[in-house]
Amino acid sequence: MTLLAGGHLADGTAADIRIHGDQITEVGPRLEPRGDEVVDCTGMVVLDAPVEPHAHIDKAGTFGIAPNPAGDLPNAVAAWRDVLAPRPAAEVLAGARRALEDLLAHGATAVRSHVNVGAASGLAPLEAVLELREQSRALVDLQVVVLPSSPLTGPAGATSRALLKEGLAMGADLCGGAPYTDPDPIGCTEYLVDVAVRHGVPLDLHTDEVLDPSSLHVRHLARLRPPAGTTASHCVSLGILPVTAQEAVAAELAEAGIAVIALPHTNLYLQARGVTSAPPRGLTAVRALLDAGVTVAAGGDNVRDPFNAVGRADPLETAALMVLAAHLTPAEAWHAVGAAGRATMGLAPVRVAAGFPAELLCVEGDDLADALGRAGERRTVVHHGRVVARVSVERCLLP
Ligand SMILES: [Zn+2]
Repeated sequence: MTLLAGGHLADGTAADIRIHGDQITEVGPRLEPRGDEVVDCTGMVVLDAPVEPHAHIDKAGTFGIAPNPAGDLPNAVAAWRDVLAPRPAAEVLAGARRALEDLLAHGATAVRSHVNVGAASGLAPLEAVLELREQSRALVDLQVVVLPSSPLTGPAGATSRALLKEGLAMGADLCGGAPYTDPDPIGCTEYLVDVAVRHGVPLDLHTDEVLDPSSLHVRHLARLRPPAGTTASHCVSLGILPVTAQEAVAAELAEAGIAVIALPHTNLYLQARGVTSAPPRGLTAVRALLDAGVTVAAGGDNVRDPFNAVGRADPLETAALMVLAAHLTPAEAWHAVGAAGRATMGLAPVRVAAGFPAELLCVEGDDLADALGRAGERRTVVHHGRVVARVSVERCLLP
C-alpha cells in the first residue's frame, strides 16, 4: 500500500490518500500508516491526474531545425513537409520520447498523439510512435492517431488513403484527418467516417482550424453520426460565429455525441497573424459548447515546433491558458484537462475519493487555483497506483 501524506485536496482541505493496487482505498484528514510506503506531500495539492488529449509528439522540440518565421498554419505545414517529414525514425523516436517524458513528469498519465503520415514521410513517424507506445506501457497510456496528409480525396489522395489504412492496420488507435484542408471537405469527411467504421475505431479530426466562418465542416461530421468516441479538435471558426449560431452548432454536436478539444497554445500562436487591431484569440466557442452539454477538453497540441515556438508539455500550462484565453474558472479549466479529457479519451473517471483509479498528481500549492497559478515543477505522479515520476526542485535564496 502507498500513503500520500500531508497534502491537500483541490478545495484546500487537508487529506491523506491511501492506495492499494491501482485503486484509491481511503481518503481522510490524517491517516495512520499501516506499513504503507509513505510519500510526503507536504505543501502539495493532490489532484486527479490530468491527461494530454491532443499532442504531436512526433514533432516536439523541432523549432530549432524547422523554424516558421511567418508563424502561420500554412507555413508550419510546409516546414513539416520539407524539413521534418524526411527525418529518420530513430530521430523521431528520440524526440517523441522526450516529449512523452515531459508530459508524464508534469502529470499526464494518458496521452493522445496525432502522428503525420504522407508521401513525404511514409510510415516512419508512425512506426516510431507505435514503438514508443509499447516501450512506455508501464508508465503512461499512449493513444496514437494516424493523421494522413492532405489531400485524401481524388487521384492525388491515393497515397494518403493507402497510408491511412496501413497505419490503422499497424495498430493505430484512432483515425485522424483534416477535412477542412481537403479540396473536397465533405467527401473527405464521409471517407474518414467510412474508414473509421470499417476499422472499428473512433475519429479525432482536426476540424475547421481557420478563422473563416463559412468553414463549418463539423456540422457535416455531426450529420453523419460518426462512431462513438469521435472528437472534433480545434473548431476555430465556431468561435467567431454570432452566439445564436454557436448555440445551434453546439446543440448539433451535443446531439451527435461529438466531443470538442480546445487547443489554446496553437490557436493563439497560429491564428490571426497579421490582424493587429483586436485580434481574435482563435479558440472555439468554449462557453456555448459547455452550455449545450458538449464534452469540452483542452490539450497542449504542439510544443516548440513550427506550429508553436514555445510550450512546456504541461497540462497546467494548458489549464492556465484556458483560464486566461477562454475565461474558464480554475475548476472548469482543470475539468477540461482532467475529467473531460479522460472522457474524450474513453478512460475511466477519476476522483480523489475511495473506489476510484489511483491516477494522481501531487503538485505544489495550497489548493487547485494556487497550484494552477504557480505551476511548480515539484511534482509526484501516480499511474495505476504506482509512483511513476517524481520531480524535486532545490530553491536557494542567497543573501
Ligand atoms: Zn493538432
